[in-house]
Amino acid sequence: MRRRRVASGSAVFAAALLLFSGAAALQFGGCAGAPPRGEKPSAAEAPPAVGVPPAAPRPPAPAAAPPPAPLPQVRTPSASGRPVRVLLGAPRKALSIGGESIRAWNAAGAPVAERSGAVDLSANGEKIRWGRETTLPSPIDVAAPSGLRIDGKQLVGRIRVSARNGRLLAVAVVPLEEYVAAVVSREAPVSFHIESLSALAVAVRTYVLQSMEKPREPTHDVVAGVEDQVYDGRDGIAEVSRKAAESTRGQVLAYGGGLARAVYHSTCGGSTETAKDAWGTDVPYLRSIACDDCRDSPSYRWDYRMDAREGRKVALSLGVRADKGLRIEITGRSSTGRASRMRIASGGVSREISAAAFRREAGYARVKSLMMEIVPVGNGWVFTGRGYGHGVGMCQWGADGMAKRGKTFQEILSRYYPGTVLSRSTP
Ligand SMILES: [Zn+2]
Repeated sequence: MRRRRVASGSAVFAAALLLFSGAAALQFGGCAGAPPRGEKPSAAEAPPAVGVPPAAPRPPAPAAAPPPAPLPQVRTPSASGRPVRVLLGAPRKALSIGGESIRAWNAAGAPVAERSGAVDLSANGEKIRWGRETTLPSPIDVAAPSGLRIDGKQLVGRIRVSARNGRLLAVAVVPLEEYVAAVVSREAPVSFHIESLSALAVAVRTYVLQSMEKPREPTHDVVAGVEDQVYDGRDGIAEVSRKAAESTRGQVLAYGGGLARAVYHSTCGGSTETAKDAWGTDVPYLRSIACDDCRDSPSYRWDYRMDAREGRKVALSLGVRADKGLRIEITGRSSTGRASRMRIASGGVSREISAAAFRREAGYARVKSLMMEIVPVGNGWVFTGRGYGHGVGMCQWGADGMAKRGKTFQEILSRYYPGTVLSRSTP
């Protein structure tokens, strides 16, 4: 996991968001829609049919559970009701779109081109080349009745393609709840408990709705990768992921009258990190929570061996050219013990960097978290650590551990986002 962004639009916070995997929730059980008891006579009160012995007296019915209180509402006027705009990949020179009966419309909604099977697009300055012969003004909307395929992703809805400076941007326009189910299916193992997946669905929905209220770019709300939330289209969305989205439809986390920043990560490794320590932005409900529910995570403990060549490569990417004698050290830690500052030095050159920058350059899947130690061994280093991801907000493996202990998605969310209020998003 990964990612960052906060209501203020802080780029630092936005950049810090690394998500990596998932969580769960609980359903409302449909109680609210059930007819009240006592409207019809019970079977015991009805006259018995001829020849049928009267039914034995029934034990008294258990007291009906009170219907769940309606959720408070949080207004999301600029986000509710509109689809999510998801940037697919980096801007590129060319783009291949597959699908049957592909059609394109211009910005005014007039049809401008069609093709069946596949079409190759390329950027020509600020215009779009459609196949070999046709040049279209940017942007265009592209759709096909049975969906489109781009970069191996099967997509529903339409794609907006725009050309800018000789590059194409492809933005999928995805219905909100379709997006939530798709992200849940990629950010958490399907083996997770439905309650932890439902908690994740609420976090995913809250995160994207907040992003939609303050889009990072005019062209899109979120990117499809770990910088925001992983979105791979509609292929392989597990039934349980759809169920988690459906059972929490419209539910979000609110704080102070607005949407909370519902960041999450795979595994905290013992305690979650504060937003202040991770990204320099104090967020009241993103504080450190002790968590031993993530012990079943395969990343609860990890190690990584970095050889000298790889160490030099990482150092170079951080501005230190090392021929030999490279030193990599942790020089500062956050209040939860995670590495915050590091020094890389070779010869007479020494550079102090953020540990987060080091982790980014080394690779998030290699140096899985900053709750780590570094020991020089031979010509390289051994990194040993606990947890996976930035550690802020909900620990998904911890959420799953809670769910498997019988906790509900509401209890999970209350633990990892203390002070937030489960609410219903309204326009
Ligand atoms: Zn945890």
